[in-house]
Amino acid sequence: MLSFSQVNSHSPIKIKKFLSCISNHPTYTPDNSSFTSILNMHIQNKRFKLETTSKPVAIITAQHESHVQKTVTCAKSNAIQIRIRSGGHDYEGLSYVSDVPFVILDMFLLQNVDVNVEDGTAWVQAGATVGQVYYNIANKSKVHAFPGGVCITLGAGGHFSGGGYGNLMRKYGLSVDNIIDAKIVDVKGNILDRNSMGEDLFWAIRGGGGASFAVILAWKIKLVSVPQEVTVFKVKWTLKEGATDIIYKWQQVASKLHEDLFLRAMLTVVNETVQVSFIGQFLGHTERLLPLVNERFPELGLKQSDCIQMPWINSTLYWAGHPIGTPIETLTSIPKEPMISYFKAKSDYVKHPIPKDKLMSIWDLMIKGENIWMQWNPYGGRMEQISPSETPFPHRAGNLFLIQYYMSWKEDGIEVANRNIKYLRMFYEFMSPLVSRFPRETFLNYRDIDIGVKHPSTSDTLDMARTYGGKLFKDNFEKLVQVKTRVDPENFFSYEQSIAPYSY
Ligand SMILES: Cc1cc2nc3c(=O)[nH]c(=O)nc-3n(C[C@H](O)[C@H](O)[C@H](O)COP(=O)(O)OP(=O)(O)OC[C@H]3O[C@@H](n4cnc5c(N)ncnc54)[C@H](O)[C@@H]3O)c2cc1C
Repeated sequence: MLSFSQVNSHSPIKIKKFLSCISNHPTYTPDNSSFTSILNMHIQNKRFKLETTSKPVAIITAQHESHVQKTVTCAKSNAIQIRIRSGGHDYEGLSYVSDVPFVILDMFLLQNVDVNVEDGTAWVQAGATVGQVYYNIANKSKVHAFPGGVCITLGAGGHFSGGGYGNLMRKYGLSVDNIIDAKIVDVKGNILDRNSMGEDLFWAIRGGGGASFAVILAWKIKLVSVPQEVTVFKVKWTLKEGATDIIYKWQQVASKLHEDLFLRAMLTVVNETVQVSFIGQFLGHTERLLPLVNERFPELGLKQSDCIQMPWINSTLYWAGHPIGTPIETLTSIPKEPMISYFKAKSDYVKHPIPKDKLMSIWDLMIKGENIWMQWNPYGGRMEQISPSETPFPHRAGNLFLIQYYMSWKEDGIEVANRNIKYLRMFYEFMSPLVSRFPRETFLNYRDIDIGVKHPSTSDTLDMARTYGGKLFKDNFEKLVQVKTRVDPENFFSYEQSIAPYSY
């Protein structure tokens, strides 16, 4: 059977027909003077902002649910591939780049957040950023929050449907663990909610990647409780100061500390040595935090003077790197064109502490690589209590922490890009014996096409999808394929790492 992508790969007439079908809807084609600024507004990785990067034949900036319905029906009837974009943070640009003719369905104007403190819920449109979600919650209540990402410009559409985690994860799990309803546009252009889409599709879009199944219009989220004030802190250690021993101990305790405490380790190269910054958030006051940390992890050397108490909403700005005192309205602002660099990222799950001698080798590789940094995010707490099949996101009990590897650079040019990416891949290869195996688990939101892609022009699409599907979803992959087969058997919602239906 031909996939949608195959059919549309050389079809100027279909594109014309699509554009005529979508006329009277907010559509930007390359001859429109705002096309480039609309395209660039939500590109977060400079690697996909080059002149040579493939461009969409049109961008539809949906302002109403009916625009989404019309885009889906026009694209489907003319076999045009769509890429759905909300916040544009996809690490590999898969929400706005394709190697076959395509249109972008841009959701960023659908950004309403409607908070109902009485029943502790909110409806969040897909184009809202997590910053807007946090801001709107705090506007109504100082003791409610939502567990989502740390970067405040992430779009709810992509971020939540890929899992979504942040510093409330050990207490409340992922974003998807706190979603209770959704509104989508299905492949036929129907608007469905949890009741009408069925529990299996509702399961699939909470962690299986929405873009394989439907367009997410909005999520209904369950708010969580936070105290009036939380405590944040940062403690830095270099290798000379004993960082190796401290991070070795961190591996053993971070996932076992009180679930009110999230203690991330950021590993960077500073002045030709490795610096480990421990960044923490505690759902309570400093007086309760200090004995908890100092009893289990005295090596951290946490002092009262390292700790700052603030309302939860201010802590979201602190985590996003803004100085203390930044007005909370900053959470709602989106730059016209983000300042971005080139980057490539990868991820791993660690189930056993990495021995000290291997840590030393890792430091050597980091120092040689210069542009590499790593983020180690502790699991445990609530993450251990949720079954791996509760949502498509399978990485639950048994994980000590999640590693994000990140290589970024400023210089233009293909040589420097290739050199950096090659180095990161070598680094990842070095890590193989130290991390999860069979499968080597990967976090969907840290999109990495190195773990496998399916190309539209091949016929064994489902087999190819199994290569990355097992790493992203483990045993949940087959259920995702079943859901996909039921809701989108012709594979309209398709991209390089989407779930394929059985007939493919
Ligand atoms: C600077 C930065 C910081 C990050 N921090 C975190 C973090 O703290 N925690 C974390 O979990 N992740 C984090 N991420 C990863 C992030 O969660 C993912 O990139 C996520 O997919 C972003 O969603 P988006 O809507 O912004 O991106 P997009 O690029 O718009 O979308 C990403 C994917 O979702 C699909 N999609 C988007 N909108 C919809 C929709 N409405 N319906 C169906 N499918 C849709 C896209 O087609 C694409 O496949 C970070 C990324 C960056 C660049």
